[in-house]
Amino acid sequence: MANHSDVIIIGGGIIGAASGYYLAQAGLKVRILDRGYLGSGSTGRCIGGIRQQFTSEGSIKLMMESVRLFGEMSEELGTDVHWHNGGYLFLAHDQQRKESFLQNIAIQRQAGLQDVRWIDAYECRQVAPGLDINGLLGGSYCPSDGQAYPFAVVNGYAQRIKQLGGQVSTFAEVSDVIRTGGRVKGVRTVQGQEFLADVVVNAAGPWAREVGALAGIDVPVEPERHEALITEGVEYLGAPMLVDYRSDGGYFQQFKHNGQFIGCYSPVPNVPGHSSDSTYQFLSEMPRRMLKLVPALAPVKVIRQWSGSYENTPDGNPILDRTPLDSFYVAAGMCGHGFMLGPAVGRRVARMITEGGTKPPLAEFALERDFSSKEAMK
Ligand SMILES: Cc1cc2nc3c(=O)[nH]c(=O)nc-3n(C[C@H](O)[C@H](O)[C@H](O)COP(=O)(O)OP(=O)(O)OC[C@H]3O[C@@H](n4cnc5c(N)ncnc54)[C@H](O)[C@@H]3O)c2cc1C
Repeated sequence: MANHSDVIIIGGGIIGAASGYYLAQAGLKVRILDRGYLGSGSTGRCIGGIRQQFTSEGSIKLMMESVRLFGEMSEELGTDVHWHNGGYLFLAHDQQRKESFLQNIAIQRQAGLQDVRWIDAYECRQVAPGLDINGLLGGSYCPSDGQAYPFAVVNGYAQRIKQLGGQVSTFAEVSDVIRTGGRVKGVRTVQGQEFLADVVVNAAGPWAREVGALAGIDVPVEPERHEALITEGVEYLGAPMLVDYRSDGGYFQQFKHNGQFIGCYSPVPNVPGHSSDSTYQFLSEMPRRMLKLVPALAPVKVIRQWSGSYENTPDGNPILDRTPLDSFYVAAGMCGHGFMLGPAVGRRVARMITEGGTKPPLAEFALERDFSSKEAMK
């Protein structure tokens, strides 16, 4: 049957694309459906940062795997995804932050991340040329963290899925999940098409709750607006992603492949709900925050701003599990880290489905879990 697949994936962001790639590689016939173009959700709006510095063992190990996969990706997918391990530097301007970073470094090393280390302010300026170290105590630095270009990654996966016999349907919004006898059978789109499959995966990112509801499954994912901007390309400085957790801080890095600086900050108070609005407040505030850290950026021009959603779960960890509806899976709620988690999560999704597992691949990512603990390096 032309419209029958082994697996339908709802969502053509990094999670859907990576999952689809590993499933297709395992020999399954995959169809990805996205209501927009590939990467039109959060993935195409992210700033491309990839780090292993987390505080839960599961996330650290998953990210170490993702970094390895990003490193092999250009060759594996046959397209340049602009992977570059330029590192991440988390800055500490007070003693309390320093203490918590030192504790986190101990946890990360215990989990196997050997190249993360505390560096003093002087060394911070050596690894981040131009960094203003006034008031800086030092930072948590991991040189093997890095960056890649989100559209190149998603399109690279999609290309491979098609080469492996899979299908990618864009501008196809799923409006119904077809169920019979307690198991999933396929989906219907708003355009009236019906696609059948033995397995359906909800990889709808910030819309995972709405897509879960189509199948009668509650997926506790809440969208939260985050804005970003990008500058013109200038000479590459060779600095890592800078992360400043102060209330007037932010995160930014320079893409090695084109010299553009890209950055964002977490708004206070947060902005819940689906929104892709951009504000003048962010446009005026973000460059100020960047200049505070690297004054030499003053002549660099901002050329574009936009916004997208983080997809938060109550405890800051993803949801990666089967659901009470037979053969309906969820891989969503990446809490603002989905791009970096994508490759390793995609492999887990494929393994969970091909092995027909009855348990989530990681207990801390179960759909039904105690959501009271919190990831500290958000
Ligand atoms: C400003 C900003 C900066 C970020 N920076 C980083 C970063 O540096 N590093 C990092 O790792 N992460 C970052 N993130 C987070 C990252 O973008 C997300 O965690 C990740 O993209 C989530 O991927 P996803 O595939 O789960 O969701 P998405 O990319 O949102 O994909 C879900 C897809 O589902 C589709 N969809 C929804 N409903 C339906 C339906 N009914 N039918 C069909 N399709 C549907 C959507 O169109 C969408 O394309 C950032 C996010 C933002 C907003």
